[in-house]
Amino acid sequence: MASITLEKISKNFPGVKALDDVNQKIESGKFFTLLGPSGCGKTTLLRTIAGFYKQDSGHILLSDEVIDDLPAYKRDTGMVFQSYAVFPHMTVYENVAFGLKTRKVEASEIKKRVARVLEQVHLSGYETRTPDQLSGGQQQRVGLARAMVIEPQVLLMDEPLSNLDAKLRVDMRTEIRGMQKLLGITTVYVTHDQEEALAISDKIAVMNFGVIQQVGTPWEIYKEPSNTFVASFVGDINFIEGKVTGSDSDSINVLVNDLTIKAVKPGISLETVKMAVRPEELSILTEELSGSDFTSIPGTIEKSSFVGALIRYTVNCGDNLKLIVELHKPQKEEMMASGSSVFVKIPADSILHFHPETGMRI
Ligand code: ADP
Ligand code: MG
Repeated sequence: MASITLEKISKNFPGVKALDDVNQKIESGKFFTLLGPSGCGKTTLLRTIAGFYKQDSGHILLSDEVIDDLPAYKRDTGMVFQSYAVFPHMTVYENVAFGLKTRKVEASEIKKRVARVLEQVHLSGYETRTPDQLSGGQQQRVGLARAMVIEPQVLLMDEPLSNLDAKLRVDMRTEIRGMQKLLGITTVYVTHDQEEALAISDKIAVMNFGVIQQVGTPWEIYKEPSNTFVASFVGDINFIEGKVTGSDSDSINVLVNDLTIKAVKPGISLETVKMAVRPEELSILTEELSGSDFTSIPGTIEKSSFVGALIRYTVNCGDNLKLIVELHKPQKEEMMASGSSVFVKIPADSILHFHPETGMRI
C-alpha cells in the first residue's frame, strides 16, 4: 500500500483559487476524508491526485515516487464517482471486467478477480444484469467493484453516496469502511456531509476556499476545532461573544449583555473573547441555581423540536443571545412549551474560546 504526499499544491481556474498551497501527508492504509462546503476544492484536490487535473504548482508523491508527470491511467489509483459512471450497455460482469481487459490481464485471472470483487460488494449472482436492472445502491456497488478490481494502491471516492437515500447511505458507508479496513487500502474520500465524515474516517481534513483548515481524528475535529469555521461546519455550536471582566490562573469571567458567564480558561489578555459551546453540553433548568463550576442564565423557550432521541430547544437569552440546547433521552414531563421561562446551565469547562477577530482557537 502507498502513502500520498501533497506538497504545496495550488490550482487556479479562471477567477478562482481552487487549491491554495495544500500540504498534507496521507498515511498508507488510512481512510482520509476531505470535508467542506460545496465549492471549497474537494473534487479539484481528488482529481489532481488522480491525475485528471494537473496542479499549477507543487508536487504529488505516491510513497516515495513523484507522480507529477504521470498520466492518470498510469497512477495506480481507482476512482469512484458521485454519478455511478457505469457503462449502461454493458452487463455487471463486463463493467467490472473492463479495466482488467484494457490492462490485458489474462482471461482466467479476470474471471477470478471479478468473481471475488463481486462477492465483496454483495453482487454475486447479478453478473448478467445491465445497470438499468439495478437500484441506485447496486449501481454504486458496481462503481466500487470497478475501482477495486484493478487492485489500485489508492482508492479515491468523490461523494459516492450522495445519490442514495438516507438509510442506504448509512448502510453503504459502513460497508465501504469495512471493506477498506479489510483490504487496508489507502483511501481518500470526499464528502460535504459532516456526520458521514465523523462516522467513517481515520482522519478528516476540513477545507474552505481551497485551504485545509484543520486535519485531525473525528474526535479532534469535533471536540478541539482549531477555528470558528471548523467549529461551526462540523456539528452545531453556540457562539457567545463578550467582554473579559475577570481573569485568574484557571478561569475567566465574561460579560455578555448584563450577564456574567464563568469559563475555565487560564488568564487571557484579550478584552473580548468569542466563546463556543455545543448544544449537548447545555441543559435547561426550571429555577436559577448557582455553583462554582457553571453559570445559569435566564431565558425564554422560543422554539422546541422533538426529533425522537432528543429535543432541540432554541432559548432566547436576550440581546443577540439565542442558545440551542439539546436534551437527550427526553422524558415526557420534561417537554417545555414555547414561551416558558427557564434558565440555561452552561458548564464552565464546556466552553471553547476563539479570538474575536481572527476566529482562531485560543
Ligand atoms: P467541491 O468539490 O468542494 O464542491 P470543486 O473542487 O468542484 O469544489 O470546485 C472548487 C472551485 O473551483 C469552485 O469555485 C468551482 O466553481 C471551481 N471549479 C471547479 N472545477 C472547475 C473547472 N473545471 N473550471 C472552472 N472552475 C472550476
Ligand atoms: Mg465536488
